[in-house]
Amino acid sequence: MKKRILTGDRPTYDSFHLGNYIGSLKNRVKLQEEYETFILIADMHALTTHFNKTDTLEGNIRGLMLGYLSVGLDPNKVTFCLQSKLPETVELAYFLGTLTPRAVLERQPALKEKLDQGEQDTFALYSYPVLMAADILLPKANLVPVGKDQKAHVEFARDIAIKFNNLYGGSLPAGRQVFPIPEPLIGEVPTLPGTDGQAKMGKSLNNAIFLTDSAQEVEKKVMSMYTDPKRIHPTDPGTVEGNPVFIYLDAFAAENFKFQISNFKLLYTKGQVGDIEVKKYLVKVLNNFLDPIRKRRAEYENKPELVERILEEGIQKARAEAQKTLVGVKKAMKLDYFNN
Ligand code: ATP
Ligand code: MG
Repeated sequence: MKKRILTGDRPTYDSFHLGNYIGSLKNRVKLQEEYETFILIADMHALTTHFNKTDTLEGNIRGLMLGYLSVGLDPNKVTFCLQSKLPETVELAYFLGTLTPRAVLERQPALKEKLDQGEQDTFALYSYPVLMAADILLPKANLVPVGKDQKAHVEFARDIAIKFNNLYGGSLPAGRQVFPIPEPLIGEVPTLPGTDGQAKMGKSLNNAIFLTDSAQEVEKKVMSMYTDPKRIHPTDPGTVEGNPVFIYLDAFAAENFKFQISNFKLLYTKGQVGDIEVKKYLVKVLNNFLDPIRKRRAEYENKPELVERILEEGIQKARAEAQKTLVGVKKAMKLDYFNN
């Protein structure tokens, strides 16, 4: 049997950005043959920050579906599903919650970050990792391709799976576990910085280049990008390391651009090339990367019924798996009483 992947995205915007791509989508496309892949649109997770923007969710879900198909995820290989259509998630999350020490949730780095960004301090935000562990364990995933910001959550899911198996797996035949132990798989660039130089590009942070941005939008965003703040004149020696412009160049350049990029790096550190010239090159690199994605998206945009059917079929399949898992979970917990 193929091993499984579960990963997902919050429908907090109608498109993906470069960070989503390099942190997670790229690995999903690469591994879709090797793994049985489940991709979850996490609309309940979106509610933690978007409870007052629920009117945007449906459009965003449609946009993310187009995004998946446009980067080359194949609906014949991948099961797309929607979190709120899998009520078993909440049921499993409750069971996992009974094994979750409060202190562990209090220590999660993502919580502090979200609160620092001004998000509401709600029960749902606080218990986010428990719901995410349920997302992962419900289809019994082995691997979770995510950006580094989500690594701690996957590690939490791991710990809780081990705990659950130890506590309730005793009645199963030797070598059988209720849950496989999921592993995170971090992308080529663990966290892509924003165009403003912030550590993380984010859908909701206003510092993202989206896969749906037009060539002109890409140009506008790149030309006003944050680079090396200490560099005032093109003749000042610049820093390549940690410079978002060079990070993007390395991450998104096709092979035929690479020679020129190493050339630019050398010139930049010597103060022999201006930021403008390097940025213009980045515009070219990014548009070259985005063109085939734009083309594929346009094709699917003309077929909304097809896209909807892909999601509906995925939901059905994921739901069947979820129900199967829940039966096993309750049996292991000895909660399968009064079934006959
Ligand atoms: P939001 O700001 O609404 O949380 P987001 O941009 O963080 O949106 P998510 O839907 O939360 O996007 O995350 C989707 C996937 O993309 C996750 O695997 C996450 O780790 C990854 N990811 C998000 N931002 C980045 C980034 N800047 N670099 C690498 N991976 C990222
Ligand atoms: Mg996020």
